[in-house]
Amino acid sequence: MKCDNCSSEETYIKEYECDFTIKGKTITVKSKRRFCKNCNSLVYDEELDNITSKLVNEEYNRKYGILPEEITRLRKQYNLSLDQLSKIIGCAKKTLISYEKGTSIPNDTNKIIFKSLLSKPDIIDILLESNKDSYTDKEYNKIKEKILKFISNNNLGILTEHNGYTKQDNKKVLKERIKKYKGENYSEEFTWDKNVGKEIW
Ligand SMILES: [Zn+2]
Repeated sequence: MKCDNCSSEETYIKEYECDFTIKGKTITVKSKRRFCKNCNSLVYDEELDNITSKLVNEEYNRKYGILPEEITRLRKQYNLSLDQLSKIIGCAKKTLISYEKGTSIPNDTNKIIFKSLLSKPDIIDILLESNKDSYTDKEYNKIKEKILKFISNNNLGILTEHNGYTKQDNKKVLKERIKKYKGENYSEEFTWDKNVGKEIW
């Protein structure tokens, strides 16, 4: 590795404390960095600098953002794949992967979405419905089923047109709404489809 400052190839590694500014916040991180033996300038070292950058992200997320493991836990509680959650959030799959690995910091919009989901997990359904047109029927049904299962298993409130969020017997409410929608055609056996979903939720 070569020094950009004096072109010397004689370098060494030492622990170095450095301030980084991320989104207006100062993050101080101590890490191993490479230096020039001749002029003492910092020398670019891909491996060490990547580790440093990861430490900076971790520290920022711990202080001001959202932790990668919280995002993974969030996704797994819904039993959603990377593909499925990234679609709901509206980001690329590789972006979500980088959030979960901690190699990048969620942008403000995504941070707000994650934080909202952490404090009120059932709003995932609202996110899904808000962007309904971007799914195929098959994708939509698969995700909807997982979300309903999550909401039902955790006995979370659902949104009704009259009272906003309330805790109630979701299965009962659901059945009643399906009954209302399907009328004579109602049976206990049903499958989710976009039209039914639209009427119910
Ligand atoms: Zn140098």
